[in-house]
Amino acid sequence: MAIMLFDIHVHTRLSPCSRMRIGELLEHARARGLDGICITDHNLMDVRHVLTEGLQANGLRVIFGMEYSTGQGDFLIFGPFEEMAPDLPADRLLRTVQQSGGIAVAAHPFRKARPVDEGLIQQGLCGAIETCNGRNTPLENGAAERLRQRYELTACGGSDAHTVDELGACATRFLAPIQTRADLIQALKQGQCRPEVPAR
Ligand SMILES: [Zn+2]
Ligand SMILES: [Zn+2]
Repeated sequence: MAIMLFDIHVHTRLSPCSRMRIGELLEHARARGLDGICITDHNLMDVRHVLTEGLQANGLRVIFGMEYSTGQGDFLIFGPFEEMAPDLPADRLLRTVQQSGGIAVAAHPFRKARPVDEGLIQQGLCGAIETCNGRNTPLENGAAERLRQRYELTACGGSDAHTVDELGACATRFLAPIQTRADLIQALKQGQCRPEVPAR
Protein backbone atom coordinates (compact mmCIF):
# COMPACT_ATOMS: atom_id res chain seq x y z
CA MET A 1 0.00 0.00 0.00
CA ALA A 2 2.91 2.27 0.47
CA ILE A 3 2.85 4.20 -2.74
CA MET A 4 4.31 7.67 -2.53
CA LEU A 5 5.71 9.84 0.20
CA PHE A 6 5.43 13.60 -0.31
CA ASP A 7 6.40 16.54 1.85
CA ILE A 8 3.50 18.81 0.90
CA HIS A 9 4.61 21.95 2.80
CA VAL A 10 7.99 23.39 1.79
CA HIS A 11 9.25 26.99 1.51
CA THR A 12 11.99 28.14 -0.82
CA ARG A 13 13.92 31.39 -0.76
CA LEU A 14 10.99 32.92 -2.66
CA SER A 15 9.40 33.08 0.80
CA PRO A 16 10.94 36.01 2.71
CA CYS A 17 11.40 33.85 5.84
CA SER A 18 13.13 30.88 4.12
CA ARG A 19 16.76 30.45 3.18
CA MET A 20 16.33 27.28 1.16
CA ARG A 21 17.69 27.39 -2.37
CA ILE A 22 15.70 25.40 -4.90
CA GLY A 23 18.84 23.55 -5.98
CA GLU A 24 19.57 22.22 -2.50
CA LEU A 25 15.93 21.34 -2.00
CA LEU A 26 15.89 19.19 -5.13
CA GLU A 27 19.25 17.70 -4.20
CA HIS A 28 18.29 16.53 -0.69
CA ALA A 29 14.66 15.49 -0.99
CA ARG A 30 15.21 11.96 -2.32
CA ALA A 31 17.78 11.20 0.38
CA ARG A 32 15.08 12.03 2.97
CA GLY A 33 12.99 9.21 1.52
CA LEU A 34 10.65 11.55 -0.32
CA ASP A 35 9.15 10.67 -3.70
CA GLY A 36 7.93 14.21 -4.10
CA ILE A 37 7.54 17.65 -2.60
CA CYS A 38 5.04 20.45 -2.86
CA ILE A 39 6.52 23.92 -2.97
CA THR A 40 4.19 26.15 -0.98
CA ASP A 41 5.77 29.58 -0.72
CA HIS A 42 3.93 32.31 1.15
CA ASN A 43 1.24 33.96 -0.97
CA LEU A 44 2.84 33.37 -4.37
CA MET A 45 3.59 30.69 -6.94
CA ASP A 46 6.61 32.40 -8.48
CA VAL A 47 8.53 29.14 -8.35
CA ARG A 48 6.97 28.39 -11.75
CA HIS A 49 9.29 30.99 -13.29
CA VAL A 50 12.42 29.13 -12.19
CA LEU A 51 11.42 25.46 -12.18
CA THR A 52 9.23 23.17 -14.28
CA GLU A 53 6.50 21.40 -12.35
CA GLY A 54 6.43 17.61 -12.47
CA LEU A 55 9.06 14.91 -12.66
CA GLN A 56 12.62 16.19 -12.23
CA ALA A 57 15.77 14.66 -13.72
CA ASN A 58 16.60 12.89 -10.43
CA GLY A 59 13.17 11.22 -10.19
CA LEU A 60 11.73 13.67 -7.67
CA ARG A 61 8.17 14.84 -8.33
CA VAL A 62 7.58 18.52 -7.69
CA ILE A 63 4.11 20.05 -7.43
CA PHE A 64 3.35 23.72 -6.97
CA GLY A 65 0.95 25.12 -4.42
CA MET A 66 0.90 28.12 -2.12
CA GLU A 67 0.55 28.87 1.57
CA TYR A 68 -2.05 31.61 1.73
CA SER A 69 -2.21 33.68 4.91
CA THR A 70 -5.46 35.14 6.17
CA GLY A 71 -6.56 36.75 9.42
CA GLN A 72 -8.33 33.45 10.20
CA GLY A 73 -5.42 31.14 9.59
CA ASP A 74 -2.99 29.88 6.96
CA PHE A 75 -4.04 27.46 4.23
CA LEU A 76 -2.07 25.34 1.80
CA ILE A 77 -3.97 25.70 -1.46
CA PHE A 78 -3.58 23.50 -4.51
CA GLY A 79 -5.25 24.33 -7.82
CA PRO A 80 -5.02 26.87 -10.66
CA PHE A 81 -4.01 29.67 -8.32
CA GLU A 82 -1.03 31.28 -10.07
CA GLU A 83 -2.97 34.57 -10.26
CA MET A 84 -4.88 34.31 -6.99
CA ALA A 85 -5.92 37.74 -5.70
CA PRO A 86 -4.00 38.79 -2.58
CA ASP A 87 -5.42 39.57 0.86
CA LEU A 88 -8.75 37.77 0.52
CA PRO A 89 -10.65 37.06 3.73
CA ALA A 90 -10.53 33.36 4.57
CA ASP A 91 -14.12 32.50 3.65
CA ARG A 92 -13.78 34.11 0.22
CA LEU A 93 -10.47 32.39 -0.36
CA LEU A 94 -11.85 28.99 0.59
CA ARG A 95 -14.98 29.41 -1.54
CA THR A 96 -12.80 30.43 -4.50
CA VAL A 97 -10.67 27.33 -3.98
CA GLN A 98 -13.75 25.08 -3.89
CA GLN A 99 -15.35 26.69 -6.94
CA SER A 100 -12.22 26.24 -9.03
CA GLY A 101 -11.86 22.55 -8.20
CA GLY A 102 -8.90 22.98 -5.89
CA ILE A 103 -8.37 21.98 -2.30
CA ALA A 104 -7.34 23.86 0.82
CA VAL A 105 -5.48 22.30 3.73
CA ALA A 106 -5.68 24.01 7.12
CA ALA A 107 -2.00 24.56 7.98
CA HIS A 108 -0.78 24.28 11.59
CA PRO A 109 -4.32 25.11 12.85
CA PHE A 110 -3.23 25.48 16.47
CA ARG A 111 -0.09 27.55 16.05
CA LYS A 112 -0.38 30.33 18.61
CA ALA A 113 0.38 33.21 16.28
CA ARG A 114 -1.68 31.93 13.36
CA PRO A 115 -4.61 29.74 14.47
CA VAL A 116 -7.27 28.59 12.01
CA ASP A 117 -10.82 29.72 12.83
CA GLU A 118 -12.78 26.53 13.54
CA GLY A 119 -15.93 28.16 12.16
CA LEU A 120 -14.48 27.84 8.65
CA ILE A 121 -14.10 24.08 9.12
CA GLN A 122 -17.56 23.85 10.66
CA GLN A 123 -18.94 25.45 7.48
CA GLY A 124 -17.30 22.72 5.40
CA LEU A 125 -14.97 25.19 3.67
CA CYS A 126 -11.81 23.18 4.27
CA GLY A 127 -11.62 19.44 3.63
CA ALA A 128 -8.15 18.59 4.85
CA ILE A 129 -6.00 19.44 7.81
CA GLU A 130 -2.32 19.24 8.61
CA THR A 131 -2.13 16.99 11.68
CA CYS A 132 1.63 16.57 11.38
CA ASN A 133 3.57 19.80 10.86
CA GLY A 134 7.32 19.64 11.32
CA ARG A 135 7.43 22.97 13.12
CA ASN A 136 4.54 22.21 15.46
CA THR A 137 4.91 21.04 19.04
CA PRO A 138 3.45 17.57 19.79
CA LEU A 139 0.64 19.36 21.67
CA GLU A 140 -0.24 21.41 18.58
CA ASN A 141 -0.24 18.34 16.34
CA GLY A 142 -2.37 16.46 18.89
CA ALA A 143 -4.93 19.27 18.97
CA ALA A 144 -5.05 19.26 15.16
CA GLU A 145 -5.70 15.51 15.17
CA ARG A 146 -8.62 15.96 17.60
CA LEU A 147 -10.07 18.69 15.37
CA ARG A 148 -9.72 16.37 12.38
CA GLN A 149 -11.63 13.62 14.16
CA ARG A 150 -14.42 16.00 15.17
CA TYR A 151 -15.11 16.98 11.55
CA GLU A 152 -13.92 13.79 9.78
CA LEU A 153 -11.41 15.72 7.69
CA THR A 154 -8.59 14.27 5.61
CA ALA A 155 -5.33 14.21 7.57
CA CYS A 156 -2.00 15.05 5.99
CA GLY A 157 1.46 16.20 6.95
CA GLY A 158 4.27 18.45 5.82
CA SER A 159 7.51 19.72 7.25
CA ASP A 160 6.90 23.47 6.79
CA ALA A 161 10.64 23.44 6.04
CA HIS A 162 12.42 26.78 5.75
CA THR A 163 15.86 25.09 5.77
CA VAL A 164 17.23 21.86 4.32
CA ASP A 165 17.55 20.43 7.85
CA GLU A 166 13.81 20.69 8.34
CA LEU A 167 12.92 19.06 5.02
CA GLY A 168 10.87 15.85 5.40
CA ALA A 169 10.35 16.15 9.18
CA CYS A 170 6.68 15.39 8.49
CA ALA A 171 5.18 14.08 5.27
CA THR A 172 2.08 12.62 3.63
CA ARG A 173 1.85 9.02 2.47
CA PHE A 174 -0.36 8.86 -0.62
CA LEU A 175 -2.11 5.57 -1.39
CA ALA A 176 -2.41 6.49 -5.07
CA PRO A 177 0.32 7.46 -7.54
CA ILE A 178 0.86 11.21 -7.70
CA GLN A 179 2.34 12.55 -10.92
CA THR A 180 0.52 15.84 -11.36
CA ARG A 181 -1.13 18.62 -9.42
CA ALA A 182 -4.51 17.14 -10.43
CA ASP A 183 -3.52 13.74 -8.97
CA LEU A 184 -2.57 15.40 -5.69
CA ILE A 185 -5.84 17.34 -5.48
CA GLN A 186 -7.87 14.22 -6.21
CA ALA A 187 -6.04 12.11 -3.63
CA LEU A 188 -6.47 14.79 -0.95
CA LYS A 189 -10.16 15.18 -1.78
CA GLN A 190 -10.72 11.44 -1.64
CA GLY A 191 -8.73 11.04 1.55
CA GLN A 192 -6.29 8.61 -0.10
CA CYS A 193 -3.48 9.65 2.20
CA ARG A 194 -2.28 9.78 5.76
CA PRO A 195 0.36 11.74 7.65
CA GLU A 196 3.68 10.04 8.27
CA VAL A 197 6.87 10.89 10.12
CA PRO A 198 9.63 9.57 7.84
CA ALA A 199 12.48 7.59 9.38
CA ARG A 200 15.72 9.59 9.43
ZN1 LIG B 1 7.43 31.10 6.43
ZN1 LIG C 1 4.59 27.27 5.97
